[in-house]
Amino acid sequence: MNTASQQKLHQSRSIERLIEGVATSDGAGVSLTRVLTGKLQRRLDPFLMLDAFGSDDPDDYIAGFPDHPHRGFETITYMLAGRMRHRDSAGHEGLLQNGGVQWMTAGRGAIHSEIPEQEDGTMEGFQLWLNLPAKNKMAAPWYKDFPSESIPEYVTPEDVTVRVIAGNSNGVAGAMSREVTEPLYLDIHMPAGSTFATALPATHNAFIYVYRGAVKVGDMLVESKRMGILGNTPDADGVMLTAPHDARLILVAGKPLNEPIVQYGPFVMNTQEEIHQALEDYRNGRLA
Ligand code: FE
Repeated sequence: MNTASQQKLHQSRSIERLIEGVATSDGAGVSLTRVLTGKLQRRLDPFLMLDAFGSDDPDDYIAGFPDHPHRGFETITYMLAGRMRHRDSAGHEGLLQNGGVQWMTAGRGAIHSEIPEQEDGTMEGFQLWLNLPAKNKMAAPWYKDFPSESIPEYVTPEDVTVRVIAGNSNGVAGAMSREVTEPLYLDIHMPAGSTFATALPATHNAFIYVYRGAVKVGDMLVESKRMGILGNTPDADGVMLTAPHDARLILVAGKPLNEPIVQYGPFVMNTQEEIHQALEDYRNGRLA
């Protein structure tokens, strides 16, 4: 655990728009909230999807996600609570649990399953989809598990705890970094009355999602289970948050790719032809 003083911002971004997630079901019948939907893919480029899951009812999660394919992007699963077993066609296997992260680059193709290894208790976390640049969409698949203790954390003088999953915040480098999209992914725990600031390049698309309590960005209150899209104010050099009560949230930012996005279910490519190719490869057993 590090301590880090917070850099002073010249100007904070503000909330451009509040988003309430859509309740849905995916996999073999897992209840989840789709926060970042297809409609927001352009606005939040390079991020394609954010699902939030959280339930203490096993019926909501026990079925898990049996074998399914992906091509063209990366999946980042952050497990706040629970245990999930991952297996994929490249021979990777891992147990994702309490505070851990799994980063999977589907690249040209991976078939994987994500199955709960618990019969009761709470399962809570997020799955974020990060797009790959056109030149890397057909790269070899890659996968890494980050157990909770391997994720860099720092505490500010105001007792804000920040877990740096990806990117760099207040001088602390995260568990992962990526060229091209330069993703920043923070899990921020704020005690009541605290403030927190971190730098963000003005051109990066960015959002917060509050999963406990509420936070304010300027005058705008972002309540629990709400996403706040942060405006790309040209003069803003970061974001400043205040917590009226204890709050927990994720902050996600990345450099837009500005490339065509064509999605068909678990395949995200640049053209319709590439989608047809992905489907054909999957049907013929050539995807993975
Ligand atoms: Fe998947």
